Amino acid sequence: MEALKFGFNDRLFILTGAGISAESGLKTFRDSGGLWENHRVEQVASPEGWHASPEVVWRFYSARRAQASGVQPNAAHVALAKLEERLGDRLFLCTQNVDDLHERAGSQKVCHMHGQLFLSRCEDPNCPDSAPFEDRNEYVRLVDIPACRHCGARIRPHICWFGEVPFELEQIDNALSRCSYFIVIGSSGSVYPAAGFVSYVRARPTVRTIYVGPEKPENAAAFDECLVGKATEIVPGFLST
Ligand code: NAD
Ligand code: ZN
Repeated sequence: MEALKFGFNDRLFILTGAGISAESGLKTFRDSGGLWENHRVEQVASPEGWHASPEVVWRFYSARRAQASGVQPNAAHVALAKLEERLGDRLFLCTQNVDDLHERAGSQKVCHMHGQLFLSRCEDPNCPDSAPFEDRNEYVRLVDIPACRHCGARIRPHICWFGEVPFELEQIDNALSRCSYFIVIGSSGSVYPAAGFVSYVRARPTVRTIYVGPEKPENAAAFDECLVGKATEIVPGFLST
């Protein structure tokens, strides 16, 4: 794969989806027929599911944390970390993934628009102590839902569920409006607002838009180019430093 050539003024916005972590051993929604590890998505990834059966949801994410801890970043994650070393702030890495494989590959700045598996927070947004926190020892693997030390409400995973507003939208909007390349790796283009970013950036005709993945995404028509192949086969050469 010929490497992408960018100039000093170029800015890259890279959006990754579940597909970049597939070769590390984490299943995508697509692979499991719309289920997430055998659970209906609404049951484990919506506020309604949480209110109906919080224990099921908490245990589901505890299992996802354990699973994510047992896999390793792959060559595509590593290539993006190296790209950051070269481009610094000219790269904006945004992920829909809740795993920590970008960080473990060495990426310093990652915008997790759908939250992070290893962060939790008090479920009461009015609690003075509701900021997300990481506590790998105490809250990560627990089977029973912990209680907030401040107000006693339940602790919930810091994940953006369907029907909730993604995180960091202001930063994302700012980066989208400044980028000259918009590249998506391993996302089916079916979860909004992320699936709409490509149409948004295309309003500026100077932006080049590229998709990388083994099959065309649902929003393929909006991209200038689709590079068909697995992330580890394409990304290291295409975004080599
Ligand atoms: P998706 O499951 O809807 O689509 C996955 C995409 O990855 C598909 O288009 C598929 O063709 C592609 N793909 C499969 N193998 C690939 C490979 N080796 N290289 C490159 N691409 C590959 O995923 P999505 O679009 O990210 O959206 C689903 C939602 O699922 C997100 O909101 C995300 O938070 C959540 N999710 C996250 C994880 C994770 O954190 N690892 C895993 C499953 C689901
Ligand atoms: Zn609280």
